[in-house]
Amino acid sequence: MRSDQSFDATTAATPAIRTGPRMRFGAALAAAAFIAAACTPGTGTGAGTGVASAAGSGAAAGGYPERTINMVVPFAAGGPTDTVTRLVAEPMSQTLGQQIVIQNVAGAGGTLAAGQVAAAEPDGYTVLMHHIGMSTAPTLYDDLPYDPLEDFKMIGLVTEVPMTIIGAPDFEPDTMEELVAHVEENGDSVNYANAGIGAASQLCGLLFMSATDTTVTEVSYDGTGPAITDLLGGHVDFLCDQTTNTTEQIRAGEVKAYAITTPERNDALPDVPTTTEAGLPDLSVTVWHGLYVPGDTPDAIVQELSAALQAALTEQNVIDSFADLGTEPVAADQATPEAHRIKLESEIARWRPIIEAAGVSAD
Ligand code: ASP
Repeated sequence: MRSDQSFDATTAATPAIRTGPRMRFGAALAAAAFIAAACTPGTGTGAGTGVASAAGSGAAAGGYPERTINMVVPFAAGGPTDTVTRLVAEPMSQTLGQQIVIQNVAGAGGTLAAGQVAAAEPDGYTVLMHHIGMSTAPTLYDDLPYDPLEDFKMIGLVTEVPMTIIGAPDFEPDTMEELVAHVEENGDSVNYANAGIGAASQLCGLLFMSATDTTVTEVSYDGTGPAITDLLGGHVDFLCDQTTNTTEQIRAGEVKAYAITTPERNDALPDVPTTTEAGLPDLSVTVWHGLYVPGDTPDAIVQELSAALQAALTEQNVIDSFADLGTEPVAADQATPEAHRIKLESEIARWRPIIEAAGVSAD
């Protein structure tokens, strides 16, 4: 479930990792216990998948941080959450004056990693980058081993990313209208790839089925990285995922681009029509990301991390990289613990009735 390849995040491309189908939640919890131990600082067994190196603006006030920080990504490498993490980890590392090691702990739609971080030492050395799944998991999972609002402190929001509905190169439909007609005709013989129960791609699939009154067969992966690899290979028919990891393939013509899930077109992908243009305004979703630490982490550390995040989001190369991938950093006042908490609370309330009405559950 976890990649152990180390490399320098400043020079290496993110590796795509092939994984098996979705793990059962019970097995995921057992693995979470194991990984929590493996990643506890000081055990010496928590090798990461990438390193954001600090060139040294010096340690922050109060002595923190004095050593490497682990930043946990709850999905496989080579996907959108991984991409966003790597883009902000490097400048945060510079500000904090310490390396940030990126660890991909994939499984159970992101809840495996969140459970691990909730149980980690609250010392500021284990940080979680998560997305909208933090707000859908409490409804999807009856036995979630953590409470998103109680067991974490929020550092700040990072970015809010549109999604794109894309198809395998040889998948028959060429347009969104043709895709809907194809699914209506072929029903659940059409395969839809997602990153597990609680993943943004699962949520988008849910909205697709609800908006079109159809049912597709969902195929789950541990992240968008492996899902897109299988889409490119024609092993699944279509998926819906963040522009951060579909823009390149769309521009290169490697996949069929059906629609972007925002009311307005996106400057990074001006030729891709919106779901609203295709007559499906309810199929509208963006994926917000935020940083978390365990709930008992001292406020002074939370503030240090939040300040480093705010600084990272004003770096021109971060702004440019985000823009090239169809998104932008949040405004400075959103990269704060307060704004993040408000967002999480409102998103939990927003998605609960939608998920309950759809009758979807991970159990
Ligand atoms: N985009 C994925 C999702 O569906 C996760 C990832 O790989 O970032 O939630």
